[in-house]
Amino acid sequence: MSGSRIGTVLVGRGKALFASKPAHVEFTSEPEADALLNDLEGHPHAFVLACVMDRQIKAERAWLIPHRVSQKLGGFSFSLLEALSLDNVRDLLSRPEPLHRFPEEMSRNFHAAVQHIALDYDGDAARMWRHKPASAEVVLRFLRLRGVGPKIATMAANILARDFKIPLADHYSIDISADVHVRRVFTRLGLVPEDASLEEIIYTARALNPEFPGILDFPAWEVGRAWCRPRNPQCRDCYLHSVCPAGSAMPASAG
Ligand code: SF4
Repeated sequence: MSGSRIGTVLVGRGKALFASKPAHVEFTSEPEADALLNDLEGHPHAFVLACVMDRQIKAERAWLIPHRVSQKLGGFSFSLLEALSLDNVRDLLSRPEPLHRFPEEMSRNFHAAVQHIALDYDGDAARMWRHKPASAEVVLRFLRLRGVGPKIATMAANILARDFKIPLADHYSIDISADVHVRRVFTRLGLVPEDASLEEIIYTARALNPEFPGILDFPAWEVGRAWCRPRNPQCRDCYLHSVCPAGSAMPASAG
């Protein structure tokens, strides 16, 4: 089966998701934490700061940090955050227990992000994506935050476009976030070789759907988590079974 046929199926699933209603995104298993992260109108900086924290620890733990800070501060208004010194942030992220594996570095990143939002966006983080900017502009604005690399910057733009339905002028610069699920699914689907570099995965997604490569992110992640597990993939239940070379080759043992 050709890569383009597989890409068409994955892109179709991605488009169906993209066309669905705005979602309440479950970033964590704590409803109050998710309510804060979903409040792009009232607390857009919570989403941005969670993205900044999403490094070198499990995503769920990182995305809980704004809520944990809010519990300690008694709120998460931008004026409360702007008044914090680096020492204050260090205390909040370090005591009594560290909120991140690297509290010192993340304290610097958190504090720098708040100051950046204050200076560049007058305290309103939603200006990073308001007025239908080009996707490259949104990615660039996240990249300008201390400690944020291309993976997190494109993930942030993808969540804004795909889940929160933030209107953007285009989606060309929203790449796929190639996590372990995406890598495994792309490999089993025959889209990339086992030893593919990160760049090869990213450019494969660009080739499959140039106008919005990141639309492949959620379908591939979903397949990886639901059916295409590291061991005993559930091929007979997977909707890609008919187009997947690996799935077609092992129907009997995979069900
Ligand atoms: S058919 Fe099987 S190997 Fe192919 S993507 Fe689905 S679960 Fe993975």
